Amino acid sequence: MSIGKTLIAAAVLAATAASAQDAPAWPQAPGYYRMQLGDFRVTVLSDGAVDRDLPAIMSDPDTVRARYQAQHQALPARLSINCYLIDTGEHRILVDTGAGELFGNGVAGHLVANLRSAGYAPEDIDTVLLTHIHGDHSGGLSIAGQRLFPNATAYVDAADPALWLSKAQEAAAPVARRATFGQSQKTVGPYVVAGRLKTFTAPATLFPGVRAIPLRGHTPGQSGYVIESQGQRLLLSGDVIHSAEVQFRDPAVTIHYDVDPKAAAATREAILAETAANGILVGGAHIAFPGLGHVTRETKGYSWVPLPWSSQP
Ligand SMILES: [Zn+2]
Repeated sequence: MSIGKTLIAAAVLAATAASAQDAPAWPQAPGYYRMQLGDFRVTVLSDGAVDRDLPAIMSDPDTVRARYQAQHQALPARLSINCYLIDTGEHRILVDTGAGELFGNGVAGHLVANLRSAGYAPEDIDTVLLTHIHGDHSGGLSIAGQRLFPNATAYVDAADPALWLSKAQEAAAPVARRATFGQSQKTVGPYVVAGRLKTFTAPATLFPGVRAIPLRGHTPGQSGYVIESQGQRLLLSGDVIHSAEVQFRDPAVTIHYDVDPKAAAATREAILAETAANGILVGGAHIAFPGLGHVTRETKGYSWVPLPWSSQP
């Protein structure tokens, strides 16, 4: 066994041990959901769900509290972390990787277990597309400094590594934003060292039927991925929506994680208007699992219509 393989095996073992350690007495069912999109097989993979005190981290706490109360939803809010596997037949493309070991406590980091439940191994993934670099999207790339997807090349818009992998930018960043820099070095860094991080500038066509579109504001390089096969389309929209309960109706409400809140709100409004107008299916990273649905225009703002669950993908 080569050293590379030994290290990867150790990383997978460490990931498995971590989830076994955190395993509850009555574990949840595997979190994956299958959907055919033209010739492509789409599998939504849950990385788990995290609780967030949204009134403390969103721009309009009163609206947040009122919306959660009106919809009988508890605070802190439980936010899904959804990843999307696109099996084109030729490529197995994973869009976002969850939080890996960054959040601890077993709330996240379930991606690999759910990937295996869905019939794939980490070694099967040849491509990882990051909507952006943030702990709960790129954190699952590596465990204990080792690449979890040994055969994958990771892609991200060049503007994100230019920020999050820069020592100069880290030194200049506000204290509240510093954590992302260290996390990025730890989890994205190993792909850079291995020559397996590639950048693009959205809009860009990356593979047949896979196109990156710019969704700037939340981070400077956030991208959505438009997946298209046989005339069917799916937009994987990353962090355009953190709170479905609030931001469909009030797209102007922003979250502290937005690097440029004003641009993030403008992007959200534009994407909601476009997806509502053309009826495109959306996959949202933090919308309740599996996060698939349509956007409709309302008298005030928009609303979310989840895709009905189907036993026939
Ligand atoms: Zn984010």
